[in-house]
Amino acid sequence: MAKLKVKGSDETIEVKNVFCIGKNYLDHITEMNIPGLDNSVPETPVIFLKPSTAIETVNNIVTIPKLDGKAISNDLQNEVELVIVVGKDGDDITEENAMEHVYGYAVGIDFTLRDIQTEMKKQGKPWAVAKGFKTSSPVSEVVKAESIKDPQSIFIKLSVNSEEKQSGNTSEMIFSIKHIIHYLSSVFGIREGDVIFTGTPAGVSRLVRGDRVSAEIQNIGKLEVTIG
Ligand code: MG
Repeated sequence: MAKLKVKGSDETIEVKNVFCIGKNYLDHITEMNIPGLDNSVPETPVIFLKPSTAIETVNNIVTIPKLDGKAISNDLQNEVELVIVVGKDGDDITEENAMEHVYGYAVGIDFTLRDIQTEMKKQGKPWAVAKGFKTSSPVSEVVKAESIKDPQSIFIKLSVNSEEKQSGNTSEMIFSIKHIIHYLSSVFGIREGDVIFTGTPAGVSRLVRGDRVSAEIQNIGKLEVTIG
């Protein structure tokens, strides 16, 4: 079972469901333009799920899976994201009450096998493999919600080998944290231990073995990952 560590405490959180929001920053939608597909700004949140085995908190080494000895992808890409950790079960939560269900926040990277995702999109097939593979989702220590004054207004960035690739602010989200919680709790229900990846700003890039990826979110912390 994937377990998250809580910063400055012995407490751990067992991860239940892993929800992810796609297309939640305009500049990333723009950079992802794929000819022939719908590249418009979504009117409702774009949701996908990952298995909890995708969460990585121990070695922070991310590896493209091999099938019978052969890597399944040639295009691993970074997506830095603010991660919400759910602290209280809820269904049909209003935006007004949404923040009561947040335990805390963490830095996450939604690593993506872009070649597989693009091919599956073109074929109209699910892209779970592109997003949910083992080690695809490293998550930092969790910072308790009460210590983050305004999670909807913090800087988020990522560098590869010390070169900045992604830089944004959570104020740029198309669907806010409150709306995401309202939406997910209405459709799926949310439970203590669920984690929610809230989307990535522009600057995704192809990574190769040995790359050192460093993600940072203001007031929350840093997450250092190596591509294996
Ligand atoms: Mg993402």
